[in-house]
Amino acid sequence: ALKLISQNYRDFYEGEIAKNIVKKVRNSNINPGKLDMEDMKSYQITKSKALCKELTKIIFCGPNLPSSGGILLAQALIIYENYSFRKTYNKKQKLLNIMEFIYNERSSLLADSNFEKIDVDGLLNKDYLIKKFDLFLKQKSFSLNKAKNNFNSTSHFSILDKYGNVISMTSSIENAFGSRLFINGFLLNNQLTDFSFKVKDSSGLVKNRPEGGKKPLSSMSPVIILDKEKNFIFSIGSPGGIAIIAYVLRNIIDIIYEDLDPLESVKSGNYLKKNKKIYIEKNILNKKEFLELSNEKDKILEIPLTSGLGIIMRENKAY
Ligand code: GLU
Repeated sequence: ALKLISQNYRDFYEGEIAKNIVKKVRNSNINPGKLDMEDMKSYQITKSKALCKELTKIIFCGPNLPSSGGILLAQALIIYENYSFRKTYNKKQKLLNIMEFIYNERSSLLADSNFEKIDVDGLLNKDYLIKKFDLFLKQKSFSLNKAKNNFNSTSHFSILDKYGNVISMTSSIENAFGSRLFINGFLLNNQLTDFSFKVKDSSGLVKNRPEGGKKPLSSMSPVIILDKEKNFIFSIGSPGGIAIIAYVLRNIIDIIYEDLDPLESVKSGNYLKKNKKIYIEKNILNKKEFLELSNEKDKILEIPLTSGLGIIMRENKAY
């Protein structure tokens, strides 16, 4: 496939490769698809601007919709910097609450912005966020959207060259082996399962429902952190399905606000909270510690939350 693409990249969309993709999808034993040559030919690659947000010490840059990663991480960092938590709260407790909040924002408010009107500036407004988060913590009956958990994962690269160019790239086929459909030496992705499986819920049509031409809501979070003068500090990202957001958030907080070495941060174990469930990295984190941090109705589950974090950081950080 690479040889064919190197000679003429349109082969992927119009030639042999495209024909093979269409055939494979339409003839799949399980759940055959309706993909046709017209879909392949009309596919347009779009280039979109990163979502950047200036914070107290850094400038955060991440992906915009249809990935939820950039918006949710920016929201989390704004809350972390500005919300006055109870004095007794430690870092983990703050993060567990923030994670539960942003995962709820994700499943109720976000989708492909070419199909749904989404006020990104509004979602990143400090006053809106602090008020809503405060209500979330106080209102025990907050309606939690029970979107599926998908901690499956593929891969992430952070690369820095000698000229100072940086790439943060999550290269996803949705989970290991993607859709399990294989042609011309590569696997087809399974990204469509990032759509909501439910079209409607109690509050009406679900924003991330499947529609023709629409992109499913991703959690991929290739992020670049700059100092206030726009100099590179570090690049970060991870595979991990929706857990990506929790992995990347915890490490940004450790590196920027706790002054931890990236390696120490990665090694210290992953955790995330969603819909009253706290997931902790098995064999690394201590369940007892999390029992003390949790609320009465929370459930704690020990699972292999292995990330795949890729971080490259400038040595002499000066922020
Ligand atoms: N398809 C998922 C997403 O975009 C998984 C990403 C991954 O871990 O590769 O959120």
